[in-house]
Amino acid sequence: MLSIAIDGPVGAGKSTIADEVCRRLGILHLDTGAMYRAVGLAVTASGVDPQDEAAVTALCETGGARVDVRYENGAQVTLVNGRDVTGLIRSQEAGTAASAVSRYAAVRRMLVARQRELAREQPMLLDGRDIGTVVLPDASLKIYLTASPEARAMRRLKQLEEKGEHPDFDAILSEVNARDHQDMTRAVDPLRKAADAVEVDSSDLNFEETVQAILRLVEAVNG
Ligand code: C5P
Repeated sequence: MLSIAIDGPVGAGKSTIADEVCRRLGILHLDTGAMYRAVGLAVTASGVDPQDEAAVTALCETGGARVDVRYENGAQVTLVNGRDVTGLIRSQEAGTAASAVSRYAAVRRMLVARQRELAREQPMLLDGRDIGTVVLPDASLKIYLTASPEARAMRRLKQLEEKGEHPDFDAILSEVNARDHQDMTRAVDPLRKAADAVEVDSSDLNFEETVQAILRLVEAVNG
């Protein structure tokens, strides 16, 4: 069964690149970050403090933050306790809560189990932070998609400018560096490049060039 793991730091373009690669290959894309965001949302909606590990763990273990995904026309729909939260999880608040709860072993255990099940059922591409190292150590192909902090901050700056905002580059760059630090230094399943992952550095590549670089790697393992 074809399984592709893409890991990398925030702002490397994993999700949009993965969506396009999957569209061209005709396989499903599992955005695992969406699942952590969904837990974050369930935690805050239940009035639990995302910083309180014992309370978050109790909520997960009593079935109060059941996360699942289904696909509609190839697109991922993310559910919490049966409710569609696909739109809601994109908020800044859900992202911040996700960052906090993704540090907890109970949360990771629950989500990793579901991610493995999904990848067993069909050919899939999973993107996240720990796919090649923890979720799918035997993936057919592991990619570490990265770009320099400056290139990632510049992309974020352009996105915000397109929305009519006037952000400060240095502020965005320090946010990118702070998220990298948090993801790479947490105790449980930190972001790191698997020993057998191929690094794709998109600092000097545009969207199409990055997609092509990944498709060439898939072709090499998939024949
Ligand atoms: O990728 P995204 O920003 O949506 O991820 C939300 C949060 O979930 C991030 O803070 C990240 O650290 C965490 N995450 C994780 N493991 C994954 C995917 C995301 O810890 N496999």
